[in-house]
Amino acid sequence: MEDIRLYNTLTRKKELLSPIDGNNVATYSCGPTVYNYAHIGNLRTYVFMDELRRTLKFFGYNTKSVMNITDVGHLTSDGDDGDDKMQTAAKKQNKSPEEIAEMYSAAFFKDLERLHIRLPEIIAKATDNIPEMIDFVKTLCDKGYGYETDDGIYFDISKFDGYGKLSRCNLEDALAGARVAVNEQKRHPADFALWKKAEKNHIMQWPSPWGMGFPGWHIECSAMGKKYLGDRFDIHTGGVDHIPIHHENEIAQSEALEGHQVVNMWMHGEFMLVDGGKMSKSLGNVYTIDDLIGKGYSPLAFRYFCMNTHYRNKLNFTFEGLDASQTAYNRLRAAISSCAEAPSSPQAKSAVDDIVSKISDAVRDDLNYPLALGMLWTLAKLPPCHEIYDAAKSLDAIFGLDLHMPIEKVEEIIPDSIKAIAETRYQARLNKDWATSDSLRAQLDALGYTVLDSKTGYELKKK
Ligand code: AMP
Ligand code: ZN
Repeated sequence: MEDIRLYNTLTRKKELLSPIDGNNVATYSCGPTVYNYAHIGNLRTYVFMDELRRTLKFFGYNTKSVMNITDVGHLTSDGDDGDDKMQTAAKKQNKSPEEIAEMYSAAFFKDLERLHIRLPEIIAKATDNIPEMIDFVKTLCDKGYGYETDDGIYFDISKFDGYGKLSRCNLEDALAGARVAVNEQKRHPADFALWKKAEKNHIMQWPSPWGMGFPGWHIECSAMGKKYLGDRFDIHTGGVDHIPIHHENEIAQSEALEGHQVVNMWMHGEFMLVDGGKMSKSLGNVYTIDDLIGKGYSPLAFRYFCMNTHYRNKLNFTFEGLDASQTAYNRLRAAISSCAEAPSSPQAKSAVDDIVSKISDAVRDDLNYPLALGMLWTLAKLPPCHEIYDAAKSLDAIFGLDLHMPIEKVEEIIPDSIKAIAETRYQARLNKDWATSDSLRAQLDALGYTVLDSKTGYELKKK
């Protein structure tokens, strides 16, 4: 177990990690709302979560990490109105919210796998934890922090002394910043919903002491954190956008309930921008991993791109930047993996050990992966020897970049869009629709893929 220093948003300082329970570190990460495909900005935040968990494990800590899947209660507006994002997606796609959740959760886990983001030990679905949320809200009401209005149960932020301590805004700021309340029964405009009463046509609803309804988004994380990690745990992560509302509200609910501090360290990943600005559907710059693969990039080059900027700095995504990362990643990997065949060089050992220790120091210092990657380049530029390969192989536990594996052995990634064309062509062929089959073969050919037919099916290959 070695010392690790991490930046705590709560104290605005780098602090020595000092786990509550020996070398066991309990972490909670806000997970995705599964109403759509994760975009590359979302995924940057999970690469950051992975950097943290890999670093903890590498230096001898056991992790008990929870990530939630929000499949109910996240409304389209940060105020407590608007539709549930899951319900909106379900209506639009003519599917049930469960089908939507299943589809986008599966896509999310596939993205994590492609980016070598290791799954937290516990994945908690909001809809599997409704009774815990109801109990939480009931206790808050009993303690005088919750109150009922016609449309739900709200948290009275004026009753909680520490409101605003994470974002360092005081109650007046919070009140001034809150949108004019749509619900006039709210005591303060910045009070937030713990539980919403459901209208008849609301698809997802559960019985509760306040009639049929569904949980507020913030209560989900507080209730699942308590259920799986207890009333005190070490680290909570998320994107910086969560600091002022979601995490502030989590702190208020959890500390009001327990009567003491619950999370020791709050860690936040900075945002990814695209071409210097916000990602938005209207600008057509919301990219997914599939989009990047479709354009010929490898997911691990995107991982490298993320790791090359410190998680607390903004990262501007451009295709020129990703091109540079793809080239650098390929070169680094080629240089390191080729050392597998190189002879051993006992003289190189001390230089290699020195670099390994500098890499360790860098990541133990608030996850300084950009510095660590720079040191990997220093390693790769040493005269080739087997020691380089061995060092990179063991360091892969923190990088997750497969740098020691030869490029040729990387499983060829065929984009889903290409697979879909091949599948349609195969169906056309089975239907003896030769014209369609030929034209789709030509289309695949133009995209750089060949299809080899066999008796039992077909094989799709990159040319
Ligand atoms: P959501 O599914 O909207 O709840 O977001 C999932 C995670 O992605 C949260 O931790 C957000 O803070 C994070 N996130 C959203 N947009 C970005 C972005 N542009 N860059 C980095 N992280 C983001
Ligand atoms: Zn959360």
